[in-house]
Amino acid sequence: MAWFNRRKKDTSSEAMREVVDDVVRDLAEDDRIQSTGPRFWLDHGYVDGDRVECAVCDKPLVVRLVKYSRVILATTDAQTGSPLICGDCGRLLCLDCALRLHPHRPSCDRCRRVGGVTSLMK
Ligand SMILES: [Zn+2]
Ligand SMILES: [Zn+2]
Repeated sequence: MAWFNRRKKDTSSEAMREVVDDVVRDLAEDDRIQSTGPRFWLDHGYVDGDRVECAVCDKPLVVRLVKYSRVILATTDAQTGSPLICGDCGRLLCLDCALRLHPHRPSCDRCRRVGGVTSLMK
């Protein structure tokens, strides 16, 4: 499971290549571990249109589920206003808070695993 943010005006293609490399590495790692723990991004119990708040800044957000996919290439515009979820602890985060640790790969402020946060999926 990997999510990354494609559009940032100041991103050089080289920086973007590094992000892609990271994502590919994480996916290989996922395959190796075959996590059997809870899949918060899939088993969250939310439906489209549910109103939630960011766990960090309390910003109101509206749930928008995306179709399950191992890699999601998201854009900042498309994601603004809907929550992301931490795959490790289930914390809901707004995009701004999720991208504080890393500019392209959403991360949980509590777990601090870069790229551990993703879209809510169905
Ligand atoms: Zn927030
Ligand atoms: Zn977390």
